[in-house]
Amino acid sequence: MPTRVIPVDPFDLVIFGGTGDLARRKILPALFVRYLACQLPADARIIGAARADLDDTGFRALAAEAIAEFGCETSRHGRDLKGFLETLHYVSVDARGEGGWPELKAMMRDGVIRAFYFSVGPALFGDLAERLHAHGIADRGCRLVVEKPFGRDLESARELNATLAQHFDEAQIYRIDHYLGKETVQNLMAVRFGNVLFEPLWNNHYVDHIQITVAETVGVAGRGEYYDRAGAMRDMVQNHLMQLLCLIAMEPPNMFEAGAVRDEKLKVIRALQPVDPHQIVRGQYDPRDDIPGYREEAGNPRSHTESFIALKVHIDNWRWAGVPFYLRTGKRLKARSSEIAVVFNELGHSIFEEDVEPHRNILSIRLQPNEGIDLQVTIKEPGPGGMRLIDLPLDMTFADALDGHDEDVADAYERLIMDVIRGNQTLFMRGDEVEAAWAWTDPIIAGWRGRNDVPKHYESGSNGPEDSQMLLHRDGRRWREIKGE
Ligand code: NAD
Repeated sequence: MPTRVIPVDPFDLVIFGGTGDLARRKILPALFVRYLACQLPADARIIGAARADLDDTGFRALAAEAIAEFGCETSRHGRDLKGFLETLHYVSVDARGEGGWPELKAMMRDGVIRAFYFSVGPALFGDLAERLHAHGIADRGCRLVVEKPFGRDLESARELNATLAQHFDEAQIYRIDHYLGKETVQNLMAVRFGNVLFEPLWNNHYVDHIQITVAETVGVAGRGEYYDRAGAMRDMVQNHLMQLLCLIAMEPPNMFEAGAVRDEKLKVIRALQPVDPHQIVRGQYDPRDDIPGYREEAGNPRSHTESFIALKVHIDNWRWAGVPFYLRTGKRLKARSSEIAVVFNELGHSIFEEDVEPHRNILSIRLQPNEGIDLQVTIKEPGPGGMRLIDLPLDMTFADALDGHDEDVADAYERLIMDVIRGNQTLFMRGDEVEAAWAWTDPIIAGWRGRNDVPKHYESGSNGPEDSQMLLHRDGRRWREIKGE
């Protein structure tokens, strides 16, 4: 039985940077799928606004091409691309000049939700915000969507927040971290707070440690220049891994509502201890066969930027005192795999004499591939020969378990854009969260700059530098295997 999809209210969505890479790769295909799912109201209007000199026909052709390249479906419920393209319009605007603004204003309708997606570099946020106001296009209820990266340190994040705050209230600003839009991430909250089973064990009495891994097989080719100025710490840890850490570690909010959830996440970030430099391993991938190494792909032969980072983090609060959180992320690793694993304590005492192996329960939440959750449980190995125990996963792969529902399971961008129209900020980062995350990140980066820290080498297609294995071995633990499909 397909899930019931409730259409959102009528809206005008303006995509600044509507001809850019993100719009083509993610935003337009996501909107198309929501159209196919009958979630866009009949009179929804999507307005591309960018520098290119296009008209509606040109923009529709660009969107059709992007959907053919990056979308996955062509029709559903009797709807197809032709109908979607009719919702698209275009206006050529200059964020830094006056061209196109009166035309944009003339296109906006009264009495519908107005949303503005800033899919442009952050240097243009201030100009856009200012002109939206100066031309009377931003109304009191309008929403603003901004993309990562939200600053490159605390100072620049504060500046961006202050720039936006000149023209918009916090309740109007939706800072996207697409990890928060993933089905599994929301399921993590459902599993924690919707079952009686886990929450009593979710603390330092029962949890030995937690691992968060986001492993990629791709390198940095194509975005080397940006990446070399950022590195894995800024590009992945400060935002995506931090958000996952918050959701796994936060106290139960009193309700599933934006303010309550974001208050609890903020408390986690503020309770993070500074990280001991010995508990951080940075790495850079080497060339292998015909695959170029990091420095070549980044176009910087002397680069000290990390394409891999592993770190051990502690949260200074009652619930998590003494429980390490091991985070790792990197490029050109063995497989594309993202997972959060809650590793519970070993059994205090085994009544089974023949069983000498230690056993643990592990709850693993897979973000990709095969989004799903599994719980490792210990059972008796089937057959004769006494009580030998084995550990097996109780697997809940959503694609199998939710057969028939998956066609309406929205991907991250689909869900997040619909949440913007619905006015639901729960899965978006608040300004103070972003600033707190930078306040924790900045001294770590400054520390290795000060020590002139050089990343370790690692082989493309491996688990990362050897030292990252040692980070856990020293504690008598080991990383979970990085497994692809
Ligand atoms: P892009 O360079 O491909 O596109 C930029 C867009 O901005 C174009 O449509 C261009 O016409 C428009 N633009 C530039 N200057 C303008 C001006 N003065 N006036 C009006 N329009 C102007 O960039 P992108 O890759 O689409 O990235 C957009 C934003 O999204 C950036 O902040 C980026 O960091 C972020 N982002 C991108 C991706 C991705 O996969 N591409 C992923 C995450 C975040």
